[in-house]
Amino acid sequence: MNDIIVTCPSCGVKNRIPADKQDRVPKCGRCGQVLPSGSIPTVVELDDRKFDQVVGHSSLPVLVDFYSPTCGPCRMMAPVIENLARAYAGRAVIAKLDTSRNQVIAAKFQIRGVPTLLFFKSNKLVDQIVGAVPQPEIEQRLNALLS
Ligand SMILES: [Zn+2]
Repeated sequence: MNDIIVTCPSCGVKNRIPADKQDRVPKCGRCGQVLPSGSIPTVVELDDRKFDQVVGHSSLPVLVDFYSPTCGPCRMMAPVIENLARAYAGRAVIAKLDTSRNQVIAAKFQIRGVPTLLFFKSNKLVDQIVGAVPQPEIEQRLNALLS
């Protein structure tokens, strides 16, 4: 992965995001504005604290993969989620949340099994998929939110 340049929507300054920082919530170096996660072609790793920061403020649709590191189907889904992050960069935010470490958000959305995919549009939960599914099915649901 390479460094990428994200223009701050607030002050217009160009921020360079190093490859190893692209899974964090990036902030503008000049004004501190949170940069739009969807502009970055990588999966955003969320936690209980960052969840609202990203999902609650995104102007783009957000897909969150609720997973657990010990779950086999979740590991199968991981490359699919990464593909989606590249394919939908600039159009949707693709994120994941480790439910074994972030139980506040997992409980809030009543996640009973993993993987569970939640789809948000205009900061509201609008769709979900429980269990591992093929990439085209997820794309179909995402595409419905882009229109
Ligand atoms: Zn700025």
